[in-house]
Amino acid sequence: MMMTDYDNFKESMKNKLTEYCRSLDIEHIGIAPAESYRDFEKIWRSQIAKGRISGFEEKDLAKRVFPELTLQGARSVIVCLFPYYSGPGENANISKSAFSIDYHLIVTEKLNSIGRFLESSINDFRYMAFVDNGPFSDRYLAWKAGLGFWGINNHIITDQYGSYVFIGYILNNYPFEPDAPQDRTCLRCFRCVRSCPGQCIMGDFTIDPQKCKSYITQKKGELTAEDIEILKKTGLIWGCDVCQDVCPHNKNVQTTPMEEFKKNLLPSIDIDELRQLSNREFRRKYGNRSFSWRGRDILIRNHAIIHKSKE
Ligand code: SF4
Ligand code: SF4
Repeated sequence: MMMTDYDNFKESMKNKLTEYCRSLDIEHIGIAPAESYRDFEKIWRSQIAKGRISGFEEKDLAKRVFPELTLQGARSVIVCLFPYYSGPGENANISKSAFSIDYHLIVTEKLNSIGRFLESSINDFRYMAFVDNGPFSDRYLAWKAGLGFWGINNHIITDQYGSYVFIGYILNNYPFEPDAPQDRTCLRCFRCVRSCPGQCIMGDFTIDPQKCKSYITQKKGELTAEDIEILKKTGLIWGCDVCQDVCPHNKNVQTTPMEEFKKNLLPSIDIDELRQLSNREFRRKYGNRSFSWRGRDILIRNHAIIHKSKE
């Protein structure tokens, strides 16, 4: 088939996009089509029916399925991976994903930089950038864009960085050529299922987030007796890394190539200091950390529950 000038332009735009991403240390980028996500809809409806959603997701189901409802004229989604593994962390009492400055800040800045670059290269380019705060499932999009494969633990796994990756995406009105999903899954060793503190990894690539320790460490209000038992099972006061740490795909993974995830690391929160801080002081000191969004009291509560159990 003959390539038209427009085809050539599209191909060169995708190459330019990849090159620009490399200049930001983004090595893994893929394109998901901005089509109706019917396969995702089926899974999501089933999760809703079983009550297995966290409530942090977009509430309007249609928005999770039809990209057009978020960006008129949406034609593709640029999906980028942000590896964050920087080592196990000395005496860590929070999840590895929270060691650095808040990844939302780091990822958003890089995605907007890509958006501005494309605005300057493509006429009438429009985009919306998201990390964790978008209408879609970021893991589903990463899979769609060919960036990794599903683990039984519901994470997206990559060969180089395992599942220690953040996912950011740019919904846009340019028809970048979509990439193909990978036709494989994890090793299915079920170590994650056996080790999960919440026993909430269902074995079919889904989880029950309501019983996930990571979700419970962020939960406000009254905790149930079951929540408390789950919290007490491991030492982290923010997040939970068990299903990633035990996964064979995360053995010998490379550390992040991104400077932002290598510096200003804080693997452990000093709880005695935390107790002394006012809310204002807490925000000033830790406001740019992802563990701060629920406030200081939640961290102190989690610590008290976990450490009381060890006394
Ligand atoms: S993060 Fe922890 S509690 Fe949640 S599914 Fe993984 S192992 Fe289970
Ligand atoms: S621990 Fe085993 S079953 Fe779980 S995601 Fe990793 S390979 Fe799959």
